[in-house]
Amino acid sequence: MKPVIALVGRPNVGKSTLFNRMTKSRDAIVADYAGLTRDRHYGDGRLGQREFIVVDTGGFEPDSTTGIVKEMAKQTRQAVAEADVVIFVTDVRTGLSGQDQDIARYLRQANKRVLLTVNKAEGMVDSPLLAEFHELGMGEPHPISAAHGQGIRSLLEAALADFPEDDEDDGGVDPDAPIRLAVAGRPNVGKSTLINTWLGEERLIAFDMPGTTRDAIKVPLERNGQRFELIDTAGLRRKGKVFEAIEKFSVVKTLQAIADANVVVLMVDATQGVSDQDAHIAGYVLDSGRAVVIAINKWDAIDSYQRQMLERSIEQRLAFLKFAPIVHISALKRQGLGPLWQAIIDAHASASRKMPTPVLTRLLLEAVQHLAPKRSGAFRPKMRYAHQGGMNPPIIVIHGNSLEHVADTYKRYLEGRFREHFKLVGTPLRIEFKSSH
Ligand code: GDP
Ligand code: GDP
Repeated sequence: MKPVIALVGRPNVGKSTLFNRMTKSRDAIVADYAGLTRDRHYGDGRLGQREFIVVDTGGFEPDSTTGIVKEMAKQTRQAVAEADVVIFVTDVRTGLSGQDQDIARYLRQANKRVLLTVNKAEGMVDSPLLAEFHELGMGEPHPISAAHGQGIRSLLEAALADFPEDDEDDGGVDPDAPIRLAVAGRPNVGKSTLINTWLGEERLIAFDMPGTTRDAIKVPLERNGQRFELIDTAGLRRKGKVFEAIEKFSVVKTLQAIADANVVVLMVDATQGVSDQDAHIAGYVLDSGRAVVIAINKWDAIDSYQRQMLERSIEQRLAFLKFAPIVHISALKRQGLGPLWQAIIDAHASASRKMPTPVLTRLLLEAVQHLAPKRSGAFRPKMRYAHQGGMNPPIIVIHGNSLEHVADTYKRYLEGRFREHFKLVGTPLRIEFKSSH
């Protein structure tokens, strides 16, 4: 499971600047997808091989008892509770404030590992101004400049020191490994109902409940000889023979489960249509690069007019997941479950498809012959060969010259040709260009 780092501090100390530094925001790539809304408070980060999740908590005033400030304090508490490490951000330009003292007091009793950082300290590594922050009693302050990118690396190394490097994970390419499956969706879409239906119908393999809350529940099961591992997103605990959700919906748990899965079943409630929250979760799934199947649940409960409305809202709001197959199900009435399993297996096979270099190169050259990339000013992009750069999601690396001038529409054209040939469904496909000059 990816470690979770929460950023806490009063307003204006530079938390969102630091958040942007820590997350490799792919907004630039996905911004033109209609319907993609994103909650900017959660992001994925990476330090070398190590991946982590960052939560920005907004401005924290621990003792506020009213209105929006109170709501923010509540959210901050939840983020701190779910975090493995807290980065407490202060501001050297304004100096230590009473509010910082309040936050420090709160964090001490929260019993988490806290790294004290003093932001806006560009060019001030040895400044006496840093000394007063020792008063907080939270150890040696880390001077950083979020805006200028100074001190961030050593801060992250300290934050992640207790977490092992991820073992090289090839995304379940081993054909005997179970397919890791996460069912993601907002509360009440029917996640626990689906999981219990599955467990009632398929063979449940004995397993131990995890000892700590940090370990997610992973339920092993087998269907037609194929092994799966269900990663909990609903805060499930076992009660007798069935599972029930005992914790409330947690974005962090959902993000961790998505990151850990091979295939994500994104569940939408047919009776509610596609909400903002659904679109948020869908945005995370897109960012994760995981294979995805959209399951429209409670199909039993709507009439044909509602079905039409629903199709339209999916088209509009989930356009950026166009590659994902849509399956209509009723977890309650056990309808559509066969096609759902098939879609999951197909998506997994697509995500781990092997694409040999000679085949990729032949497809590339045929595609170029059919339609050449446009010249851009003085540059004429020239494509030479292609190889597979990864799986889960599949990545195709195209080598040549002046490839930075290839238009996005042309990239999509190539993507379409590759998808068609390799019959890729339910997985994103990434195309990267490498120019030799
Ligand atoms: P937040 O409210 O804690 O999320 O703070 P923001 O990230 O919005 O930053 C507040 C202000 O501080 C903005 O004007 C930033 O440009 C500025 N700021 C953030 N980081 C730095 C820094 O490292 N150095 C300086 N000089 N300014 C910074
Ligand atoms: P979760 O919060 O996503 O785990 O959702 P639950 O599994 O607890 O389901 C929420 C509610 O939706 C419960 O009352 C279920 O009985 C109901 N529900 C779940 N699946 C279906 C379905 O396929 N059809 C109908 N009509 N109701 C369903």
